[in-house]
Amino acid sequence: MKKKRNIKIILIFSGIFCIFLTLLIFKINLNNKQKDVWDSKLADETLTNILTQEANYVLVEHKMISSQFTQAILKNDNGTYKSYFINVKDGNLLNIEDIIKSEEQQNFKNKVHELIELKYPKFIADSLNYGNGNITYILKDTELIMYFYDFEINPKPLEELFLMIDYNEIKDYVNFPFHLKEEYERENGFTFDPTKKTVALTFDDGPNGSKTLRLVELLHQNKMHATFFMVGNRMATAPNVIKEVLKTGNEVGSHSYNHKNLTRLTKEELLEEEKSTNLIYKSITGQDLKLLRPPYGNVNDTMKQNLNLTFINWNLDTEDWRYRNTNHIYDSVINKVKDGDIILMHDLYETTIEAVEKLLPELYVRGFQVVSVSELANIKGQTLEVHKVYRSF
Ligand code: ZN
Repeated sequence: MKKKRNIKIILIFSGIFCIFLTLLIFKINLNNKQKDVWDSKLADETLTNILTQEANYVLVEHKMISSQFTQAILKNDNGTYKSYFINVKDGNLLNIEDIIKSEEQQNFKNKVHELIELKYPKFIADSLNYGNGNITYILKDTELIMYFYDFEINPKPLEELFLMIDYNEIKDYVNFPFHLKEEYERENGFTFDPTKKTVALTFDDGPNGSKTLRLVELLHQNKMHATFFMVGNRMATAPNVIKEVLKTGNEVGSHSYNHKNLTRLTKEELLEEEKSTNLIYKSITGQDLKLLRPPYGNVNDTMKQNLNLTFINWNLDTEDWRYRNTNHIYDSVINKVKDGDIILMHDLYETTIEAVEKLLPELYVRGFQVVSVSELANIKGQTLEVHKVYRSF
């Protein structure tokens, strides 16, 4: 009986002790939590004032970034973000310059410019870097996000414009604690998305000196590629143009040695054509030609059976050689273009270059990626085969 009572007492005491312990742990936790999340009434007051003024916005998040300041993130119905950095010592607002080291301000700006140019085509990057608009800075765990609003851009992109800057890029410039991703690799600016609409742009009959180079520059500015189908006897006169074309990710294919109608040639003559064109190209680039754009798009069985090349024709003809009118060429593409198209142009005419200059930004804002023929095939999951003819993907 006595033993039983002792056990009862022990049980009651251990019960009380357990409750006490739980309460203690709970209290320690609570204190810690409060310390982590909050220690400034002034920041709270400032935030209350902000929320009163920003009636169209709701608070998404308010957290300590460092012992110096908090970040409040607001969002409205359109999905537009605003952020406020609040000094916890006096409740005053800070701007981006206040949280970048004073001696690194210019380096930070230069880095932002560089990353914008890497991500966006020139017509957008120039406006974001040098134009007027509103920028919202949001500090995340491993990156700084910049949202760009109300910048004047022509043509106007429909997509949200933003830049995610990994702290690995700006770790020496910022004045607050952050986490560094262990593995970080910068994107090269030419990553193509297989889920987006994609077309191949092709230019025949070159190389053509400054006109070809101007097209290469326009493509590069817009982060796009094309395939240049060149005539063998012209290649020999312009090795540097060919190297320039390849340097920025474009592709070169054959357009025969001297632009003859290949369907009239014998097997031996065809093989001689292929050999002499490839010889010139290889002497300049060290590579073999793999693609053939047959002159006039003419292909017969003798060609298909004997030439060890992939035949690339087109399904969207701008007829730029016939009309030589910038708007006509522009309209012929923009009114018809669809995913998987191969577009035919010639790097011979000023009007073609003017049309391309207008066309590439417009294709970009309409969500088209513009690439070389081989890239298009690759994006569409197709392997280019020799002896076969392709018109679109
Ligand atoms: Zn041609």
